[in-house]
Amino acid sequence: MAISKVFELLSEDYPDVKTELTYKNPYELLIAVILSAQCTDVRVNLTTPGLFRKYPTPQKLAAAKPADVEKLIHACGFYRAKTKSIMTAARDIIERFGGEVPRTLDELVTLAGVGRKTASVVLNQAFDEPAIAVDTHVKRVAHRLGWTKNTDPVKVEHDLRALLPKEQWSKVNGMLILHGRRVCKARNPKCEDCRVSAYCAYYATTEAKSLAAPELTSPARSRRSPRPSSRK
Ligand code: SF4
Repeated sequence: MAISKVFELLSEDYPDVKTELTYKNPYELLIAVILSAQCTDVRVNLTTPGLFRKYPTPQKLAAAKPADVEKLIHACGFYRAKTKSIMTAARDIIERFGGEVPRTLDELVTLAGVGRKTASVVLNQAFDEPAIAVDTHVKRVAHRLGWTKNTDPVKVEHDLRALLPKEQWSKVNGMLILHGRRVCKARNPKCEDCRVSAYCAYYATTEAKSLAAPELTSPARSRRSPRPSSRK
């Protein structure tokens, strides 16, 4: 089946699908993922060591002065909103979850600044629980491969869950993210370098168009068959 072949090929290309965010425990990962919204993992990784040195636990972060946190995470962008989110999430973790990051999707999404994508990253990376986090890369690559026709991330997530065995969810998630970043880019997908092009709906369509196009648009053809002139 095409999907299992794609899984096999991408597994070879991306044997390690761990997040590029650095963290030591679920609390640090949760905060790092919230900070990574509209920001690169590299920038977050430069920011979090200072933040976690000063606030190594939810208790410390919840008791911080917002202005101090804002200064530390300023480089991640949206620093006021992100400060509010991570401090509220820290407070929620203490007040509602006994100081521990919860381990279910339903509980995680009740934390400030945590949507299904962030919750899924925490589940599959920190707790090794099967989950699919649909970000822009996963959505795009899944769409091009023909695995979903939906654009709404929750619907894409449900489509992928239905297509793939549970034990492959986390791995496929990581592979689609890396493939989207490195090969199946938004503007110019490198289809000629892509190992799964034989199983890709987008590639099949563009190939068909490029085979048909010369017949219609080739200058050679237009030289052979000039338009009859109406002016004689
Ligand atoms: S063939 Fe092109 S569009 Fe399809 S998955 Fe590969 S890079 Fe993306």
